[in-house]
Formats: sequence, C-alpha cells, structure tokens
Amino acid sequence: MAWRRGLGHAGAAGAVRMIPLGDAQALVREACTRLDQRVVAVGDSLGCVLAAPALAAVDVPPFANSAMDGYAVRAEDVAVTPVQLRVTGRVLAGSMSAGALGPREAIRIMTGAPMPPGADAVVMVERTRQDEDAGEDTVVIEDPVRTGENVRGAGGDVHAGSEVLAAGAVVGPTQLAALVSAGVAEVTVVPRPRVGVISTGDELVDLGQPLGPAQIYDSNRPMLLALVGEAGCAALDLGRSADDEDALEARIARALPHVDALVLSGGVSVGDVDVVRMVLERIGKGRARWMQIAIRPAKPFSFTPLAGPGRTVPAFGLPGNPVSSAVGFELLVRPALRAMAGHRVTERPRLIARAREDLRRRPDGKTHFMRVVLEPVSTPRGTVDATDEAGAEPVAWTAAPCPGQGSHQIRSMGLADGLAVLPDGDGVAAGSPVEVIITNRAFSEALPAVR
Ligand code: AMP
Ligand code: MG
Repeated sequence: MAWRRGLGHAGAAGAVRMIPLGDAQALVREACTRLDQRVVAVGDSLGCVLAAPALAAVDVPPFANSAMDGYAVRAEDVAVTPVQLRVTGRVLAGSMSAGALGPREAIRIMTGAPMPPGADAVVMVERTRQDEDAGEDTVVIEDPVRTGENVRGAGGDVHAGSEVLAAGAVVGPTQLAALVSAGVAEVTVVPRPRVGVISTGDELVDLGQPLGPAQIYDSNRPMLLALVGEAGCAALDLGRSADDEDALEARIARALPHVDALVLSGGVSVGDVDVVRMVLERIGKGRARWMQIAIRPAKPFSFTPLAGPGRTVPAFGLPGNPVSSAVGFELLVRPALRAMAGHRVTERPRLIARAREDLRRRPDGKTHFMRVVLEPVSTPRGTVDATDEAGAEPVAWTAAPCPGQGSHQIRSMGLADGLAVLPDGDGVAAGSPVEVIITNRAFSEALPAVR
C-alpha cells in the first residue's frame, strides 16, 4: 500500500507513535494563516474582523443638537430663575429652525433637532411651565442651565477622520451601528473563511429519509456545518460521499476553487474503507499528515494543506464517531479557522470547576476530554461565591459527568456544557479542581460571569 510509506508506519497502525495535542495543534496552526484582507461594504462586514482601523467619514453627531425635548435658550438669559421668555418658534428632529434666537427668547426644540443659531443650551421641558395669563407664546424657565447643557456637540461621539473601531475589532450589531453612524461605507476586513463540509460513509442517510438496514443518519454533517458557522465562518454544505476514493476525490476537486478550508468527517482510522485518509494522501502531494493524537476521544486525525487555486486550502479529516468529530473540531479545527478569520480569541472560554463526584479514567498516555454539566456552587445565602481550599482560584461551579461517555454517544455531548480536561492518570477526585472547556455556547450566553 503506497500510502502507508513515508508516514513512519511500523506496519500495524497501532504501532504509530501518538503525538501530544499541542504538537498537532501547532502543526495545524502553522498551515492555517490569516486570510488576505479585502475591502467590503459595511453591510457585508458582519462577523468579520477589521484588518485596518475604520475612520469616521463624518462627525457624529454631524451637527450640534438637543439632547432633550424642551426649549433652546441662551444660558445667560436664564441665569436668574424663574424667568419668562418669549417663544419664537419650534424646531423638530430633521428640520432647521426658521430663525435665530434673540435675547430673552426661547425656541421649542425636540430631541435630535439642530440647535438654532444663537442658542447655547436647552432647558428640559420638565423644568419649565406655561403661565396661563401670559399667553401661549411664552414659557417660564424654572431653573438655570449652564452653557452647553443638554446640547450634543458636533463630533461629540467621534470626529470625522478619527478612529471609530480599531484593527482587530469584530463587527457585531453595535459595531455596525457605530460604523454606519459615522458614514463609513466600506471597511477593510479579514473575510470570513468559506469552509466546506463533506461527510463520508456508505451507511449514512440524510434526515427525512427512512433508515434502511445497517443505515444511520448523517448527524456529523449538520453538526460540523453548524460548528463552522458558530466559529464565525461561512459554512458550505458539500454533501456526503460514498466510501469510494474516486468519488471523494472528485468531490474535493470540485470544491477546492470555492473554499478556504475543508472539513471531512469519517474515514480517517485504520478500517478497510478509510477513504478520507487515503484520498488526502493521494492528492496531498506529500504534505498529507495522518496522526494519532494522545487524546480521547478523537485520536486519529488527518491534516493536509491542499494546493488550491493560488493558495493553500487546509483539509481537516475528523473521525466519524460523532463525539470524536465534535471534539476533534473543538481542539484542532476551530482554533485554526478562527486564526484564518483573524480573530484574536481563537479558543473557547475555560473555567476551573470543582469535581462534583470522582471523574474517573485509566492511565493510557492520553488526555481525556469528558463531557460534563456545570452547576453553580450555592452558598448558604444562595449566591455563587465559593473559594477553593487554596483560597486562590474562586470556584463557582461544579462539574459532573454526563451519562454515556462513549465516542458514539452524541446525545451526552448535547447535554454537556463543556469538556473537562483530564490529564493522563486516574482522573480527578471529587472536590478537586478541574479545567473545563465551555463548548456549549448556550451556557456562556445564559450566564453573566462565567470566568
Ligand atoms: P469512521 O470514522 O468512518 O470509521 O466512522 C466511525 C463511526 O462513526 C462509525 O460507527 C460510523 O458509522 C460513524 N459515523 C461516521 N460518519 C458519521 C456521520 N456523518 N454521522 C454519524 N455517524 C457517523
Ligand atoms: Mg466510515
């Protein structure tokens, strides 16, 4: 078998040396560099990382305007109160005052309306009253205001030409608003990587079809597509391949011009039809790497920087067992994709929890990732505020294993808040601290202070 040569194979795959997770991650990261920056319309920048600072095209606000509904006045006219002023007009948001403000005059003004010439402050309507006898075109000001009070100066938020957002900022809903308010039409971003997902396996069928004998639903493809999207990339569904080398190779070749990375599920072990591993070896021009990583689950992993049109397209081969696919994605693919997208934060959040019960494992030279649920530690007063024995790290959470830790048991991954990191050994005793990678975004989003 030609593909076995050059891989350091000692015959049976079991003899291949396991490499530490950190080494595999470093190898992957080296090949997954930030995508080339490009200029895009601000409307297309959502989720992207800015590759250059975004500068304001206009002052924000563009003109001095009122922060309140009330009366535009000259501060010196209302230094001694109460004082009656003549109301000479009205100005609404979106319109200009018909005239300038003279001494001892007031102009009714609404929030966001431009300050009339001559006015230098606004008295909020709650600090005024109407004198019935004096007529409608007068107002009594009850309290003095300082010059500039309740006035939003031109450029008070940001001046034209100055920085709205720095390079490295991630464009989310409020960043979008900041850019639009400043008239920024285009921004320089790292584009969101287009990541194609292919699943492999003769046994797979899509949801909606009846399960025939020996068939299972293809759950990895929808999962990986969703994980890719959640990581901030554009997911491309490239379908499912049979366990056939030529079919898979053709599918990859068709995809290459359209993707920045490829994620493949299944077929990277030592089975008879582990086609992903074989095809990547065939088309990888000597750059295919097949690894046994010292982790559980997700030990076998295949990585190949493929030659795409004008650039390298990393191809990640994840094991087909659903939990292995998920864990392999978390540990090896997600950080690489985030780096390609230019994110400074490439890792999921982690926290130190206290083991609620013994988190048992056997020594085997591997780091184990155990699916756990996290519960807040409740003190007698019901608050989340506990400290571990050493008194150093505040421990606000307990971690308990999810039922069903087999690598085929995806339901327990669905129940888990995160992955407890269990170094080689016998596990973590009840009550001891354990590091947990928060993989369930709903967990991070539901709780205000995870870290
Ligand atoms: P493989 O890595 O291809 O040897 O597959 C290992 C196990 O994962 C087998 O039990 C497969 O049936 C299962 N499997 C492979 N691909 C998928 C998938 N896309 N969805 C769900 N299970 C899968
Ligand atoms: Mg398979």
